Amino acid sequence: METRLFKNGKQISLLGFGTMRLPRISEDTQEIDYKAGQEMVDFAISRGVNYFDTAYMYHEGGAETFIGEALSKYPRDSFFLATKMPPWKINREEDLEQIFSDQLKKCKVDFFDFYLIHNVNREHLKDAEKFKVYDFLKKKQSEGKIKYIGFSFHDEPELLEKVVDEYDWDFVQIQLNYLDWTIQKANRQYEILTKRNIPIIVMEPVRGGTLATLSEKAVDILKEAEPGASTASWAIRFAASLPNVLTVLSGMSDMEQIKDNIQTLENFKPLDESEYQMIEKAVAVYRSSFKIPCTYCRYCMECPSGVHIPKVFDKYNQYFARGDFDKARFLAEYKQIGEERQAYNCTQCGVCLSKCPQGINIPEKMKEIAAFASEK
Ligand code: SF4
Ligand code: SF4
Repeated sequence: METRLFKNGKQISLLGFGTMRLPRISEDTQEIDYKAGQEMVDFAISRGVNYFDTAYMYHEGGAETFIGEALSKYPRDSFFLATKMPPWKINREEDLEQIFSDQLKKCKVDFFDFYLIHNVNREHLKDAEKFKVYDFLKKKQSEGKIKYIGFSFHDEPELLEKVVDEYDWDFVQIQLNYLDWTIQKANRQYEILTKRNIPIIVMEPVRGGTLATLSEKAVDILKEAEPGASTASWAIRFAASLPNVLTVLSGMSDMEQIKDNIQTLENFKPLDESEYQMIEKAVAVYRSSFKIPCTYCRYCMECPSGVHIPKVFDKYNQYFARGDFDKARFLAEYKQIGEERQAYNCTQCGVCLSKCPQGINIPEKMKEIAAFASEK
């Protein structure tokens, strides 16, 4: 596995193991399939992956417990573990200590290698400042409970610039992939961090799986350019080709995905000029069928009316991206979401509005999809 050099001579694997989309025991639950997950972790470690990323919120709190268990048989100095503090869950300063000690316990460790303020945006930054999260993390760092401090970011480059200039950071985690390079201005974010010599951890390199499937026409372009390569491998290589990227986090859900990613980064070959052009071509074709920029991050969940927001968007996007405009197929797949989880249950309450890092007007889209699904 290719590695990148971090501070103090630490070598970080270019593929990072994300725990946001671990295998589940069934479609309708966030409960993790421990056996399948453990096999994935073991395989990743056997192939040189040493960076594991989790969060207090993933799998409704279950991801930290899982990864703590899965890594407990390995020596503590053989892996790097990252987790995050969710500022929107803090109601008083004492909550910080409570959450942090809970995390250490769940993850079965005495310290975290990497620790992040989770999902920094305009709103969460206010909470983080109000409850002095940064000062708390600095204190934990001086106690040896945290080695490196960073944050994950979901907002405009101007805010990123402000945050990196106001505090001292060891690293920053951003959403970066070839679609968001311009859509979400990831190119500008990359530039801001690189100019300040702050290493970048990439999240959503495959944009929640979207860049693994694209549309038929877009996939054809990539397949023709490199017949043996998976569609996802182009996205992983795009992120890994950037020199200031420390590790590319992939939230893998099965062995097939992990094997594919490992193969891509074991024999890593940065993209060349003609390959960048191929990506540009595929993106142009794909974007022509793009409807809603949902990355399936689930920050908008749980909806008080039971709507499964990312699933609804996913079915709708796939209908347009496939390009076959097969309404019967859309309806059959949409039905699988479950009656009580569909768009028509949206009461337009607006609770989800401020939670979406992609800035999607969720209630408006729900209205649109509910109408679309009921049309003959
Ligand atoms: S606006 Fe609709 S989708 Fe959003 S939380 Fe309210 S009911 Fe759920
Ligand atoms: S609608 Fe927004 S918050 Fe919800 S899953 Fe999609 S990208 Fe994430």
